[in-house]
Amino acid sequence: MKVLIVEDEQALAEVIGQYLRQAGYEVCLLHRGDQVLPLLAERDVDLMVLDLMLPGMDGLSLCRAVRQQGCKMGIIMTTARVEEVDRLLGLELGADDYLCKPYSPRELVARVKAVLRRLEPELEANSLSLRLDADRNLVSWQQQSLELTRVEFRILQALVQANGRILSRDQLINHIYDDHRIVSDRTIDSHIKKVRQRLRQLGTEHDWIQSVYGTGYQFCPL
Ligand code: CA
Repeated sequence: MKVLIVEDEQALAEVIGQYLRQAGYEVCLLHRGDQVLPLLAERDVDLMVLDLMLPGMDGLSLCRAVRQQGCKMGIIMTTARVEEVDRLLGLELGADDYLCKPYSPRELVARVKAVLRRLEPELEANSLSLRLDADRNLVSWQQQSLELTRVEFRILQALVQANGRILSRDQLINHIYDDHRIVSDRTIDSHIKKVRQRLRQLGTEHDWIQSVYGTGYQFCPL
């Protein structure tokens, strides 16, 4: 199970990171709010420990944004102000639990376990979708993984991140190449064709990428 800690007090983040690792979780630390959504677009996270006050983007906006994207992960929000908790509860942000600072790392680990236990069935359903690993250009579905070329990976990543929106060939070109080169539509079409062929190796006949006549392409989860 992967836990993301978003906490700008770096010493605190390190300590709770250690406790969670000892409890058997894979841990990732971020110290700024604006790093969260880019990371979630590329990595699968089962639970996020989210501080309220953060540089870049605050915990409230992040919690909202994550839930609006339909993301099913567990969220435990932390705040230094007791009176904030009541307000947060009233906002119905979709957080699974709240913790007031200062809290003991043990208490946090207990809450993480409880939330994950409760969410387990939903998290399993989540694994029906593709997972992307940008460091290795790897795409996984259930137990199967395959490595794509950099260009193939970036096409798929753009489509997955578009979250159901149709992307034009121009938008895809912009996402794939950083150097504003001129690329023909036909080149994009042939890359898409290859990505589709590769995705079939994941062992499902499902067509992950739909072409939308005259417009572009769209990612279709199962
Ligand atoms: Ca803070």
